[in-house]
Amino acid sequence: MQLSRRRIRSRRVASLASVAVLTLAVSTSAGTGHLVTGSTTPGPIAPGRDSALRACMIHGHSGVQMPEGIPTPAGYVRSTGTVHALNLMIDFSDAPGQGSASARFAEFFPQTQKWFMTSSYGRLDYRPETPIDHWLRMPKPFAAYGIERGAPFDPGYRRLVQDIVAAADPQVDFRRYDLLNVLVTPNAGPSALDTVLSVTFAGNTDAPVADGVPLSNASFIYSRQDDGSGSYARTGYRVLPHENSHTFGLPDLYTQDGGGAVGHWDIMSEDWGADNDLLAWHKWKLGWLDDSQVRCVSTRGTAVYPLTPLGRRGGRKLVFIPISSRAGYALELRTRAGNDAAVCRPGILVYRVDADVDTGNGPITVYDAERDSGGCTRSPNVHAELSDATFLPGQTFADPKAEIVVTVVGTDGSGDFRVRVTRR
Ligand SMILES: [Zn+2]
Repeated sequence: MQLSRRRIRSRRVASLASVAVLTLAVSTSAGTGHLVTGSTTPGPIAPGRDSALRACMIHGHSGVQMPEGIPTPAGYVRSTGTVHALNLMIDFSDAPGQGSASARFAEFFPQTQKWFMTSSYGRLDYRPETPIDHWLRMPKPFAAYGIERGAPFDPGYRRLVQDIVAAADPQVDFRRYDLLNVLVTPNAGPSALDTVLSVTFAGNTDAPVADGVPLSNASFIYSRQDDGSGSYARTGYRVLPHENSHTFGLPDLYTQDGGGAVGHWDIMSEDWGADNDLLAWHKWKLGWLDDSQVRCVSTRGTAVYPLTPLGRRGGRKLVFIPISSRAGYALELRTRAGNDAAVCRPGILVYRVDADVDTGNGPITVYDAERDSGGCTRSPNVHAELSDATFLPGQTFADPKAEIVVTVVGTDGSGDFRVRVTRR
């Protein structure tokens, strides 16, 4: 299965105008085949889990490219334990390396490694490696590869990957690595302020082979996501954890309307601006939460559940209420902790996960406790309206059709929250 992931910017009208073309390109590339025919890499979470949680392991229909369901299909990179990331810095005759290759690498590391360590509570030991410390010059000019936003793998990316393999192979044993990061010199292609080219091809078993292994999971990083606020050195790396999370099987949560579905509550929704974490659903999907940290509310009745802050290690992190075998509601406690730097209203986040909705089409929707409030953040590149989406003690979320009522009943001295869930 060939999957191409890319960001869609909503800030600029020009970006929005190209979204329809982009969506078409994705559908077209999916339709041309490259199906996963088996994999040597197990999915992040094996089936056969705690039976109390089975009703919450929702799954979509088979046509979904990159589903939210659990378990994640095979073909992606393992998301726990030690993962070896090969980093190659490339340049072109029409875009010669700007600064040193090792300085380009340093734009993303060690921050990306640290981000994964924090978000996974130490379960993902991400090892970035750079066996070649200089720019690898590609044999053709950048323009010759035909790389633009929405470009499918064939023919341009296939040619580029073949040329990267040919240039690096004398010094690199590709069998040693789980994923590939291609860090392109930032002067190749348009500024990320205008067009975001960064893309990941994940689970692509039809990719070119090097040292006997297909380069099925590769992220390509272009330009610089510099929001102009002076925070680039602190936050500009965040495109890489976003792109690499695709190699672990996570879909894009932004839609044609930008970050309006999930806001800044997940790096798969917004990877510009202040640091943010992943939703608890994603952490469970990636194997970063134990089953004991998840409660599945699949039977009728009323009960109260404690939740501990997502940014803090240990404790109950996720309450999930399935409404079908394909969808359900998730509850989690978000505070300013861990990777969450911009939370301005600590509280219970309520969202719907739909495993039948594909990447980029809004598989997750956050419910806003304070609709049309304008939000509480002043942080640049943080979706403002949803920044105060969290539910506070006394507030209630209800789905009358599914006969589900969630009320935040209080907090305790340690910062934990309690939620009461009724399902009839
Ligand atoms: Zn993406």
